[in-house]
Amino acid sequence: MAVSSFKFALIDSATGHQILHGLAEKLGDDDASITIKRENEKNRLELGKNNQHVDAIKVLVSTLQELGLDNNIGAIGHRVVHGGEMFTQSAVIDDDVITAIEAVSALAPLHNPANLIGIKAAQLAFPGIPQVAVFDTAFHQTMPEKAYMYAIDKDHYKEKGIRRYGFHGTSHFFVAQKAAEWLNKSFETTSVITVHLGNGCSVCAISDGKSVDTSMGMTPLEGLMMGTRSGDIDPGVIMYLMKRYKYDANQIDDFLNKQSGMLGLSQLSNDCRTLEDALNDADNEKRLAAQLTLEVYSYRVAKYIAGYTCALTHLDAVVFTGGIGENSNYIRDIVVKHLGLLGLTIDDCKNQQARFGQAGAINDPTSRTPVLVIPTNEEWVIAQDAAKLTKGVK
Ligand code: AMP
Repeated sequence: MAVSSFKFALIDSATGHQILHGLAEKLGDDDASITIKRENEKNRLELGKNNQHVDAIKVLVSTLQELGLDNNIGAIGHRVVHGGEMFTQSAVIDDDVITAIEAVSALAPLHNPANLIGIKAAQLAFPGIPQVAVFDTAFHQTMPEKAYMYAIDKDHYKEKGIRRYGFHGTSHFFVAQKAAEWLNKSFETTSVITVHLGNGCSVCAISDGKSVDTSMGMTPLEGLMMGTRSGDIDPGVIMYLMKRYKYDANQIDDFLNKQSGMLGLSQLSNDCRTLEDALNDADNEKRLAAQLTLEVYSYRVAKYIAGYTCALTHLDAVVFTGGIGENSNYIRDIVVKHLGLLGLTIDDCKNQQARFGQAGAINDPTSRTPVLVIPTNEEWVIAQDAAKLTKGVK
């Protein structure tokens, strides 16, 4: 079995406060471990050989029992990557939901089966506690046909489900809601472009509270350049590599998903912070490689933001989120400066201050549209949905 990991958090769904959180990693490997953090305490336990999700969850359950926190759990929410067209919102998990998640697994062969392992392990460990699946794709199910159809033989859509689905739905939804609060508007009348820049990156056009376009497609490879993913590329490149250099499907997969993006272009790192540091490197070649990579990255983000204005009738704000969007004033500065024709202007001082979890506006007062930085909180959306859907189910 492949080595895998999962994150967990015990959250007060009303406030978003994380009572406890952590990470089980390298499951299936010799050095599998679980790290549990609570307030200022951090405990890391080696799980030993041949340990899987069930074993990690057992450790988590006994920790919760020792701390007297096990009685407080009202519901368990699971992040599920692909819900296909079947799930337009989160769902209480029963046998039918599990069958449906299995049915769309072909569209996300690396993620959905792993999500199901987590669900089944949690069902065993927490019998009687209702469980909810929260889909990365669900928020984007409101996209119109013109946004989700690929220009390919339509039978491939009808028979094989090949269309654009979009991901990061919980993050786009969360920050758009927070933007509406900041703007003092109802979510249903708020139109924003949300820009999630992390290891994975995507842009979303949200019109009156509904996703109407997003940059990831049938898989999380389409759209923006990312840490190790290429984002948009001429599909002709794939044919060329296969025909001329005899790449097979696995090599193409590795090339586009793991060896491209910031890592591939810079040949230095997939990590934005490391590339920003390399801008001051004494080695000229490294400096230029980092500079080019960050320029290509930011230019592509700006092109998507400008492009998505045609999906909206009005634009209330542009919102940056994700590890890079929340912390990199360098990237935000280049992106916003590309958008001068849209009337966006940045305040250098506010931009530099908006880091490390600080939310706020970074635009200059002359900007036609507010530019906001809002930290995402996908775990809280999952907790809220789990609580909302399971009231009274137990
Ligand atoms: P995420 O997947 O949302 O955790 O984001 C990870 C990305 O955020 C990595 O590329 C990090 O280098 C980047 N990141 C985190 N903090 C900073 C920072 N202070 N400046 C620039 N990039 C950052």
